[in-house]
Amino acid sequence: MSKEPKKPVEEEPVEEKPVEEKLVEEKPKKVKKVKKKRKGAFHYYKIEEEKPKRLLPFCERCGPGYFMADHGDRYSCGHCGFTRFKPAETSG
Ligand SMILES: [Zn+2]
Repeated sequence: MSKEPKKPVEEEPVEEKPVEEKLVEEKPKKVKKVKKKRKGAFHYYKIEEEKPKRLLPFCERCGPGYFMADHGDRYSCGHCGFTRFKPAETSG
């Protein structure tokens, strides 16, 4: 009986890869200009008898100062998204 000498496991030569320095190119960020239509206070008030009358309700969540947008049958707050349905009109 002859014992075969175990062959040493050939290790794959590890090639040292040169670390590529990644050049970070600073790209100028394009700032998108969003045109905001500014609505003045005149949008929220209706001059009546020389006295400003509040047309839109304030948001119940955000409190006074935050108007709710009129969406026909409901109001919605653009600040928190709170939606409040208008009270049904009782006619007849
Ligand atoms: Zn709100």
